Amino acid sequence: MSSPQASALDDEFSAIVGNDNVMTSEIDRYAYSYDAAVLDPVMPGIVVRPTTSEVLGRVVKFCHDNGLPLTVRGAGTNLSGGTIPHPGGVVVLTNGLNRILEINEEDLYAVVEPGVVTAAFAQEVARRGLFYPPDPGSQTVSTLGGNVAENAGGLRGLKYGVTKDYVMGMEFWDVHGNLIRSGSRTVKSVTGYNLHGLMVASEGTLGVFDKIILKLIPPPQAARSMMAVFDSITSASETVAAIIAAKIVPATLEMMDNFTIRTVDNFRKAGLPTDAAALLLIEVDGHPGQVADEAARVEEICRRQGARELKVANDTTERNTIWQARRDALPALAKLKPTCVLEDATVPRSKIPAMIAALGEISTKFNLTIGTFGHAGDGNLHPTILTDKRDKAEWQRVEHAVEEIFDRALALGGTLSGEHGIGLAKRGFLIKELGQATLDYTAKLKKAVDPKNILNPKKMEG
Ligand SMILES: Cc1cc2nc3c(=O)[nH]c(=O)nc-3n(C[C@H](O)[C@H](O)[C@H](O)COP(=O)(O)OP(=O)(O)OC[C@H]3O[C@@H](n4cnc5c(N)ncnc54)[C@H](O)[C@@H]3O)c2cc1C
Repeated sequence: MSSPQASALDDEFSAIVGNDNVMTSEIDRYAYSYDAAVLDPVMPGIVVRPTTSEVLGRVVKFCHDNGLPLTVRGAGTNLSGGTIPHPGGVVVLTNGLNRILEINEEDLYAVVEPGVVTAAFAQEVARRGLFYPPDPGSQTVSTLGGNVAENAGGLRGLKYGVTKDYVMGMEFWDVHGNLIRSGSRTVKSVTGYNLHGLMVASEGTLGVFDKIILKLIPPPQAARSMMAVFDSITSASETVAAIIAAKIVPATLEMMDNFTIRTVDNFRKAGLPTDAAALLLIEVDGHPGQVADEAARVEEICRRQGARELKVANDTTERNTIWQARRDALPALAKLKPTCVLEDATVPRSKIPAMIAALGEISTKFNLTIGTFGHAGDGNLHPTILTDKRDKAEWQRVEHAVEEIFDRALALGGTLSGEHGIGLAKRGFLIKELGQATLDYTAKLKKAVDPKNILNPKKMEG
């Protein structure tokens, strides 16, 4: 901000959050101009860092009163442009609001501020003998506020659900600086509208989370991990459907195609079978007796469906090797080319074989390298297009391929995004899934709670 009005605003922000928590230099503003999405950066005018709940509320009210567009930012790891600011707007950081306020071991809930890092929270909960299952791949840096605003999933989504399944309630600031409460610390609560449900996946467009009440559960007593090796990706994808159809719900059921297997093995020599067409990485957990029974049945189904080999982890090291391979998939693929487009269109689980076939056709049709891995058990695959955005001709083919991925997923009864959100990246496609009436209803809702459209404008706007 260089104009006299801008510097007056800097002073006013400094008066609210303190000098040390206002950033205006070009280099600071650039640092907050982009996120993990493959989109061009947009420079904010100012970056502010509230460190108390009360100050956060005052910042929101100040932005509203002065008509300043505001983008709240956790760790900026979202993959849909949700934290790319409005040009010249205000970025509000939550990393100064990172306290775990309560972990209640009797009533199995926790109260947190939005900037708490996901893995740090899960570890603290585990130390108390409890379990917080949502585990996005970004968990060592992502924040709980960002997880709630994106409804983040993870490897355990199949059995344990996603972030929304753990949000019991919250307090959030509305644009006028009022603290709104929804939900409670009780297992059951039907008082008032489910506003905290509305806030989940709202991508910073409806309110700014101040405190979140999260459900905790007892951890499983035992777990067994295994890797099934297939010579045909069709057999592997049919096995996913067969396991679910057998009424077994593993904690985790992931898939990697041959391109991803080879890339991961090259990245970190993990001894993966690089000639395999596909791998299924599976973990069952629960009571030891149930684990033994389910593991045997899963093994039997995999073999019946044509798995050429089944490796069962015998100890923690072998278990970690399996899951490290899966966690390496994205960083390994991302190293291959300057631009990595990670999609997350999702289909009903029974349609995984059809979606895998569609991705093969799309890769051939547009002559693009696509590595596919992901949460096959949830129907949530991550086809990852490796490209170079500077190659204009190839980039055009990428854009067409992405649209076709969405079209094919929707035609199979699926959805545009299983967990990465809409943000700026997918807003243009919302109409295809939701239709005009739903977009109009959403726009009316947004206008009612944010009449000046200052909360993360343009995100999720169809
Ligand atoms: C390597 C990698 C792996 C990933 N793996 C997964 C995965 O397995 N599963 C998955 O679901 N996602 C995954 N993601 C995507 C991303 O990590 C998630 O979307 C995560 O929830 C974002 O958290 P964040 O703290 O970075 O939020 P940010 O990116 O900072 O923000 C995300 C959204 O939340 C809003 N927001 C943040 N704080 C608040 C608040 N206090 N009030 C209101 N709105 C707020 C922002 O405005 C924005 O719209 C991955 C990303 C990367 C880079």
